[in-house]
Amino acid sequence: METADLIVIGSGQGGIPLASDFARQGRNVVLFERDALGGSCVNYGCTPSKAFLAAAHAAGRARQAEKLGVHSQIDVDFSAVMQRVRSIRDSFNQGVKKSLESAGVKVVCEEASFTGERVVTGGETSVQAPLVVINTGTSSLMPDIPGLAETPYLTNRSFFELQALPPRLLVIGGGYIGLELGQGLARLGSQTQVIVRGDRVLEHEESEVSEVLTKAFEQDGIQLHFHVEVEKVAYVDKVFTLTLNTGVELHGEALLVAIGRKPNTKALNTVATGVELDERGYIKIDDHFHTTCDGVYAIGDVAKQPAFTHVSWEDYRRLKAILGGAERTRNDRVLGYAVYTEPQVGRVGMTLEQAQKKGINARCVTLPMSQIARAIEWGHELGFYRMVVDNDTDKILGATLVGYEAAEIVHVFLSLMEAEATWQLLECSVHIHPTYGEALPSLARLLVGDNMPSCPNR
Ligand SMILES: Cc1cc2nc3c(=O)[nH]c(=O)nc-3n(C[C@H](O)[C@H](O)[C@H](O)COP(=O)(O)OP(=O)(O)OC[C@H]3O[C@@H](n4cnc5c(N)ncnc54)[C@H](O)[C@@H]3O)c2cc1C
Repeated sequence: METADLIVIGSGQGGIPLASDFARQGRNVVLFERDALGGSCVNYGCTPSKAFLAAAHAAGRARQAEKLGVHSQIDVDFSAVMQRVRSIRDSFNQGVKKSLESAGVKVVCEEASFTGERVVTGGETSVQAPLVVINTGTSSLMPDIPGLAETPYLTNRSFFELQALPPRLLVIGGGYIGLELGQGLARLGSQTQVIVRGDRVLEHEESEVSEVLTKAFEQDGIQLHFHVEVEKVAYVDKVFTLTLNTGVELHGEALLVAIGRKPNTKALNTVATGVELDERGYIKIDDHFHTTCDGVYAIGDVAKQPAFTHVSWEDYRRLKAILGGAERTRNDRVLGYAVYTEPQVGRVGMTLEQAQKKGINARCVTLPMSQIARAIEWGHELGFYRMVVDNDTDKILGATLVGYEAAEIVHVFLSLMEAEATWQLLECSVHIHPTYGEALPSLARLLVGDNMPSCPNR
C-alpha cells in the first residue's frame, strides 16, 4: 500500500486548489477522480451552462429588442452554439489537468472507496494518509416515474452533448437548473413546457421572485404546468410522452429531468473509516469541516454546504487555514448566489421571513424595476430590488434582486454585509445616473421616508 501526506477524493472546486497547494509545498498528494477532472462546475454545471446561456440570452435579447423598435431575423446555428459550449468546457477541463500536473499531484482516475481508516482504494491503487479530504459533490436526483429509466432523457450531465435543437422540450422540475436550461432552449427556438410539482417555480425563494420569473417565462412563450405530477413516461418514434396525474399528455423530442441533487457518497463506503452520513446521505461535518473520523474532512456540496462553486472554493480557503493552525470556522461568512434566467435573481443573506423566524426585529423595503430610470430606458422593467434590515442595529441583513444582470448588482450587498454596514451607508452613497446601481441608495432612502440625507455630517 502507498502512503501520502494528503488524499483528496473528487476533483471538485475546493479539492483541486487544496491538492495543488499541498503538492506545491512539497507534500505527497494523491487525488482520486472517477470522471472528468474539474467536477460538476467545469464539466456539467456552471461553465457549460453559462456559455450556453450566453447564446440563449443573446437570442432572447434580440427578440425582445422589438419593443425598442429594433426588428431582427434570428437564425440559430445550434451546432455552433453547442460546439462553442463544449470547447470552453474542454479548455477549462484541460486547464485543471495541467494545473494538477504542474503542481505535482498524483491523479488516480478511478472511483475511490474507503477500505480502512484513512485508507482509500481506487482500481489497483490503495493509499493511506493522515489527512483525507472528501470533495465528491452531488449528482442528479432521479424521480421514480414508471417508464422514465427506459428512455433517453437528459440531465445536466448529458444536456451539453445535444447535437440538434429539439423542436419541443419538456422539463421536469422548477428549480434553477431546469429554469436556466429550459429558458435557454426556449430562447434558442424549442417550444418548451415546464412541469412543476408545487404551485410556483423556485419554491425556496420569496413568492414575488417566482411571480416575476413566471411572467418572464410566459413572455418567452414557455408553458408552465403547476401542481402536477408525472405518472408515466414513454418514448416512441423519438417522441417523449408524459402522462400527468390530471390525465393530460405532453409531447416532446427532448426531456430534461432536473428535480434536485443527491450527494455522491454511495460509492465511498464511509463506514470503513467511521465517517457518518446524515439521513439524506450527506457527510456530517462540524464547524471546521471535520467529519466524525479523525483526520478526515469534507468540503463543498457533499458536506451539505450551500451548493455553489464559490462556496466550495471558500471551503478550501478556510480548511487550508484551519489545517495550518488558524482559528477559522465555516459559519462566519456572507454567502450569496444567483440564478441566470432572464431576468436574473441575485440573493444574499436572509429574507424578511427568515429574519423574523430567527426572532430579529426586521423590516424590508422594495423598489420595483419599473421605477428605476435605467430599467425604463433600457426596457428591463420586470423585477424588483429588496433589502432587509435590522431595526435594532440598522445593519443590512439580506437582499433579493430580480432584474437585468442582478447577479452582478448583488455584489454591492455582499461587500456591505461583509463589512457589517448599516443601511445608512448605502443611503449616503451617491451612485451614478442612470445605472441599476443608482437604485440601491434609492432603495435605502425608502427607509428614511423622505428625501433628506440620513448622514448630513459626512
Ligand atoms: C447545471 C448546473 C449549473 C450550475 N451552475 C452554477 C453556477 O452558475 N454557479 C455556481 O456557483 N454553482 C453552480 N452549480 C453548482 C456547482 O457546480 C457546484 O456547487 C460546484 O461544482 C461545487 O461542487 P463540489 O466542489 O462540491 O464538487 P463537484 O464539482 O461536484 O465535484 C465532485 C467530483 O467528485 C467526483 N467523485 C464523486 N464521487 C467520487 C468517488 N467515489 N471517487 C472519485 N471521484 C468521485 C465527481 O466525479 C466530481 O468530479 C451548477 C450545478 C449544475 C449541475
